[in-house]
Amino acid sequence: MKTIGIDIGGTKIAVGMVDQQGRIVSQSSFPTHPQRGFADALSRIMDAVEKLTTEHDQSHGPLCGIGIGCTGPIDPIRGTIHNPHILPTWNDCNLVAPLRERFGVPVRMENDADAAAYGEFRFGADAGAGSDPIVMLTFGTGIGFAAIVHGQVYRGLSGSHPEFGHIPTPIDESLQEACAAPCYCGIRSCFESLASGTAIDTAGQLGGFKDSRAVFKAACSGDATAKKIIDRALNATSSAIWTIAHSFVPQKIIFGGGVMEDHFDLFAFAARQSILNATMIPGKQVRIVKASFGANAGVVGAAALTIA
Ligand code: ADP
Repeated sequence: MKTIGIDIGGTKIAVGMVDQQGRIVSQSSFPTHPQRGFADALSRIMDAVEKLTTEHDQSHGPLCGIGIGCTGPIDPIRGTIHNPHILPTWNDCNLVAPLRERFGVPVRMENDADAAAYGEFRFGADAGAGSDPIVMLTFGTGIGFAAIVHGQVYRGLSGSHPEFGHIPTPIDESLQEACAAPCYCGIRSCFESLASGTAIDTAGQLGGFKDSRAVFKAACSGDATAKKIIDRALNATSSAIWTIAHSFVPQKIIFGGGVMEDHFDLFAFAARQSILNATMIPGKQVRIVKASFGANAGVVGAAALTIA
């Protein structure tokens, strides 16, 4: 049997075919282009799923389900998307029903970080599997957070999930100017507005860099402006990890998302230093690990939602 995993971020959408052991058979990705509207994205998602199922019609058994991880908030029961900040034109749109109708299989949707964490918990040999509780942070367009507690995705009121990307983080006086405008969440200097790929992109462009990749590169070569931007992201990460570790005391903290593909060591070092000398929790025992599935964690996690 095979399943399809769809990972929807604010920047890109990845669609993959996954076997029952959580291995990707084949996948493709394309830009999200949220400004083009929901119908446009839905049609491109449908085409990508159709292409994969046609290409692999005769292999890996029948298609048993489709899982979606979508940048949240989302309503997993209704199958609707409620993220007016990152996916403004998709607000209240239903992604589950049209896929179920077209492909005739069960379709489940979760927040993208929840799905990625669940995939790591089920199949991530180096990261989540065998550990409980675990938490996961995804550093990309935004900063996603998920916790798996007693084998289940942790949910709050009305099925909502914790948003540690939007906790306030302390910021040095000299860096105040970068946080003049509040984040869309309503507060200044939240974790996401300082340490997400978008935050580094935006601050970098103000400083004359092309994008976040150029900022990291320049920081490595000692450029003072770039170093300031990266230091700010690392300080915000240290502060957020202190709070998260003291809230959940997890066995593992998993870092995923596009930014972690190249910069895991940098962020993990800052995170480890932050909790090393904690006195109220066993900070030394909390392991900070990279997502086993790297950039594919979202696709594997989405697929895992439908694998028994
Ligand atoms: P999504 O949020 O759609 O899943 P990504 O995880 O690729 O997409 O994150 C996109 C954001 O993160 C962009 O702002 C991009 O510039 C930045 N980003 C992604 N990967 C890297 C990387 N390896 N190095 C630096 N910045 C990155």
